[in-house]
Amino acid sequence: MNTVSDYFGSLVFDDRVMKATLSAEVYSSLKKTIDEGASLNTDVANAVADAMKDWAVEHGATHFTHWFQPLTGITAEKHDSFISPAPDGRVIMEFSGKELIKGEPDASSFPSGGLRATFEARGYTAWDPTSYAFIKDKTLCIPTAFCSYGGEALDKKTPLLRSMEALNKQALRILRLFGNKDVKCVRTSVGPEQEYFLVDKDMYEKRKDLMFTGRTLFGAKPPKGQELDDHYFGVIKPRVAAYMADLNEELWKLGILAKTEHNEVAPAQHELAPIYTTTNIATDHNQLTMEIMQKVASRHNLVCLLHEKPFAGVNGSGKHNNWSMTTDTGVNLLTPGETPYENAQFLLFLCAVIKAVDDYQDLLRVSVATAGNDHRLGANEAPPAVVSMFLGDELTAVLDAIEKEEPYNAAEKTVMKLGVHTLPKFTRDTTDRNRTSPFAFTGNKFEFRMLGSANSIACTNIMINAAVAESLKIYADRLEKADDFETTLHEMIRKTIKDHKRIIFNGNGYDDAWLKEATEKRGLLNLRTTPDALPTLLEKKNVDMLTSHKIFSLAEIQSRYEATLENYCKAVNIEALTMVEMARREILPAVEAYIKDLSDTVSAKKSAVPGISCKYETGLISKLSELADGIDAATDELKASAEEYAAIDDVTKASFFIRDSILGKMESLRAVCDEAEPLVAEKYWPVPTYEKLLFGVR
Ligand code: ADP
Ligand code: MG
Repeated sequence: MNTVSDYFGSLVFDDRVMKATLSAEVYSSLKKTIDEGASLNTDVANAVADAMKDWAVEHGATHFTHWFQPLTGITAEKHDSFISPAPDGRVIMEFSGKELIKGEPDASSFPSGGLRATFEARGYTAWDPTSYAFIKDKTLCIPTAFCSYGGEALDKKTPLLRSMEALNKQALRILRLFGNKDVKCVRTSVGPEQEYFLVDKDMYEKRKDLMFTGRTLFGAKPPKGQELDDHYFGVIKPRVAAYMADLNEELWKLGILAKTEHNEVAPAQHELAPIYTTTNIATDHNQLTMEIMQKVASRHNLVCLLHEKPFAGVNGSGKHNNWSMTTDTGVNLLTPGETPYENAQFLLFLCAVIKAVDDYQDLLRVSVATAGNDHRLGANEAPPAVVSMFLGDELTAVLDAIEKEEPYNAAEKTVMKLGVHTLPKFTRDTTDRNRTSPFAFTGNKFEFRMLGSANSIACTNIMINAAVAESLKIYADRLEKADDFETTLHEMIRKTIKDHKRIIFNGNGYDDAWLKEATEKRGLLNLRTTPDALPTLLEKKNVDMLTSHKIFSLAEIQSRYEATLENYCKAVNIEALTMVEMARREILPAVEAYIKDLSDTVSAKKSAVPGISCKYETGLISKLSELADGIDAATDELKASAEEYAAIDDVTKASFFIRDSILGKMESLRAVCDEAEPLVAEKYWPVPTYEKLLFGVR
């Protein structure tokens, strides 16, 4: 087991292992379940469970768990061992088909946004055979969906699978209309690029803010930040390189296609990108990647920060969701083809995405709404909270020519008719120099860049798939009834361009002028914060769309609304309380201790040299005393607000209170503390500074 190809996927019960360990009959039954969703009979389930158990035990596993993705955004597991007592006092290792297929974790402590109260108290997990089982920490992990007994989804995987099915159904209708009879299914693929920070564990443990909230709540700007751009793609430091090598090995064993790694813009910031795969698997893999990143960091005495904005004034971390649609025959539907028909088909799928992004800007924004990401969106390293699309100049010009019924360029004599003429040759802007767009077409896929680094990619892909399925459904409904397919197609594409071109913006998305144009001239939404964004989830057009494709029920939508806002409120409240604690018990005592030291110096100097001025010390003492009063007052104010917040029991009202009152008070408290920091001698400052955190890993 030395070369990567030897150990790649060695901890995964993948197709190779299935073929090798299952009888031909069982294997073909299981394949039918995986590929076509056919149900498994008990005998087959038992045979699969037995083979899985033998394989897992051979690889050192002692336990199994149903592995699922509740609304917390992280994964959950409850381990059971395989052991079962034998009559003679020994144990045997057992695992049944029943245990493989269904589990009943005690679900009462997972967030459900009130759903379990409305339905049944308990939830169950159900095996998702489309994602391979794997071994982690001597435990066989079985990917599962998590539902209530009423069948309501309590997790992120169930609606994701439903959204993939909705898109598949509508995309197949379109493909049939273009005469394609071979394709059996259309799947979406995702390659999520993951950013993260690495900090030294000893320093991390000295900061309650990092430990409790994942981000620094205080910290003056260091003399050097990221202004020299000397970190981006820079040489990777030995300790980080050792970490990355270890991480890759762990990920590869789990069959995760970790491919690219490099330093990011901010000091201590890095990125890892896998090779893209089917959305469901990509989601499982991204959750695992985040978990393993943190675990491996610990072995290197490092901590991996996945928070979207761990440091103020330094770039935050995002996740780029590269998304495409592919047929089971291997055709990427977002690639222009060779024939006029293929090109028209490409344009129709492209238009479906344009329409989807414009119609459901709000849902895309909702899908990335967290307290942490609110700090990142619209700061100088991430797209604004306004959703827009980048298509590149050439593709935009093609769409323009179609809309206006003009030749694409002067040399051409005729106006192009879709489905009849070939698409004008345009060079695809594969380099994608515009990195400021929230939703960029990058040649054969779309890159959605609003996700925060800690977000599960499930939510975003649920919304993209759903919205695109809706566009495709509207197109298919019309085209199936059309007398003249080509004319209808042409008119529909023109209409989409005309109606939705406001969402296309190829300029600098970070520019203030764009925000003004987007909101004032184009009427695009600017949902700045999570409490601004979330209520749109409950709007009729969104509920109608999501329920009509059976992606969510109304109750599930309401439950997600509640759970997301609850999570937002709790996250910020913990930050507020941590600030109060740190200000009172660490920062103020440090400032006071330094004031005392300065005062002692004054007395000593005065007794040594009577009449000496001590201007420096007394000036600093009075400045620091003033700041200490300021810290004290700001802490009291924040504490009072936090108490007021605790008395609000409606989650929507609570979220508005946080947005309008708590966040501002947190900022004020931070401002006075950060002003004091550079005035206090370094050895008095109670927590590692930005300088140490950002440049401490060598
Ligand atoms: P960058 O964005 O850094 O220039 P790439 O565009 O090459 O890099 O790839 C970024 C991510 O996009 C990778 O995870 C890659 O696997 C993924 N990707 C590439 N092609 C596709 C595709 N057709 N569908 C989905 N993801 C893709
Ligand atoms: Mg990219």
